[in-house]
Amino acid sequence: MVSLQNVTRFYSSGTGEVRALDGVSLQLEPGAFATVTGPSGCGKSTLLNLLGGLDHPTSGEIHVAGIPLHGAGEAELTHYRRHTLGIVFQFFNLLPAMTVSENVELPLLLRGESASTSASRVSDMLALVGLSHRAAHFPGQLSGGEMQRTAIARALVGNPALLLADEPTGNLDSANAALVCETFSKIASQKIATLIIVTHSDLVAALAPVRIHMLDGKILSQSPAGPAL
Ligand code: ADP
Repeated sequence: MVSLQNVTRFYSSGTGEVRALDGVSLQLEPGAFATVTGPSGCGKSTLLNLLGGLDHPTSGEIHVAGIPLHGAGEAELTHYRRHTLGIVFQFFNLLPAMTVSENVELPLLLRGESASTSASRVSDMLALVGLSHRAAHFPGQLSGGEMQRTAIARALVGNPALLLADEPTGNLDSANAALVCETFSKIASQKIATLIIVTHSDLVAALAPVRIHMLDGKILSQSPAGPAL
């Protein structure tokens, strides 16, 4: 489902070459739940940008749901981001003038889905994240945890094969973080999408069956160990 083969991403800087990713290989099955941890500068954002179709590797191959991202052009990457990928950000990125329901519907509007398909999909996703009762509220009327669960519903509404989350609990207190963690665990147990969360939180990292730790652009450890490549 997610496959990286010897992926590198080098940047040239004034002082030489920065090896943001330095030979990363990874295989995740469909429906897998993985967390990625590691100190600042170890390459986590670079990895997310590559999986998110926002950047190209310097070398190596990246496949998500059979799509070769390493060789994809801009049009293919835009299609990939709209149809195969969902992303959850640390600061939610909800539109304040739109209701919860309208925020969740947005990716479907961008894809040109019919109103009736959209309405039932939005209501299913709000039920999944436990926010049906908040559908008509605006983001400013929600707790941080509710905002993040709205963002998760929006990321899943298009039925993506891969859900990426970048520090999803980084801006939440522990009670709200726990509720967001519960939502991710539910998504993983129902195998709604393959889930990769980048986190500094040990609690979040411990939720996942696959835990990847990075250092200096490399995967330092993966538990349980991945298949030999
Ligand atoms: P993390 O997300 O784990 O903090 P990053 O992926 O942001 O790590 O960065 C990995 C390394 O690549 C760091 O040394 C960073 O300074 C460098 N880097 C990231 N983006 C760029 C860029 N656009 N130009 C030059 N160096 C970069």
